[in-house]
Amino acid sequence: MTIIEPNGYMYKFVTGTWNPISGKCPHRCPYCYMIKPDGELPPLHLREKELNGEFDENDFIFIGSGTDMFAEQVPSEWIRRVLDFCVTASSTLFSANQIKFLHQSNNPARILEFTDHSIFKGGQVVACSTIETNRHNSDYMGKAPLPQKRAEAMALLAKQGIRTYETVEPIMDFDLEEMIALIRECIPEQVNIGKNSKDFITLPNPTP
Ligand code: SF4
Repeated sequence: MTIIEPNGYMYKFVTGTWNPISGKCPHRCPYCYMIKPDGELPPLHLREKELNGEFDENDFIFIGSGTDMFAEQVPSEWIRRVLDFCVTASSTLFSANQIKFLHQSNNPARILEFTDHSIFKGGQVVACSTIETNRHNSDYMGKAPLPQKRAEAMALLAKQGIRTYETVEPIMDFDLEEMIALIRECIPEQVNIGKNSKDFITLPNPTP
């Protein structure tokens, strides 16, 4: 497997990123760092060769930093194979509970389809979604489900005992009370906040 050390300041809490499912993310968020102005990404695909190796003790791996693994268009079989591999590759050398996985999705309702998997049973998984703003902003938010739908799914995940984080990045202009209510609905252990850092797009920033 190819684990990449995280760069930037947002996710210093993870030890690495890993992308076993890769290609053009169906959500097409206009601010996505994976959007290449000079060329198209390949279609979605499972990188078979990534399902090989072992994680290290105390790893906290962000799975799917470059493509949303839980987008509707990703075949369930691929997702189950990645989750199966997470179990296999974290249980041979070290106590499985020392190794954690961050599953971040702009479609967290799809994560709910997999919570019967054993990887979700031992507190190893943190589910995370993005809420850039409480406002619907189709020009800037791509094809992912609305933030309100994401929050509803995150609440259901939390109620199943799954640890949840919420990420507000790139933060866009918002309504304070509605935004706070939306984030609280996700019952997050941790909230990560970041502003737009991409120079290829101008977003409706909130005031400092
Ligand atoms: S969901 Fe994530 S990976 Fe997919 S387009 Fe949006 S920012 Fe990029």
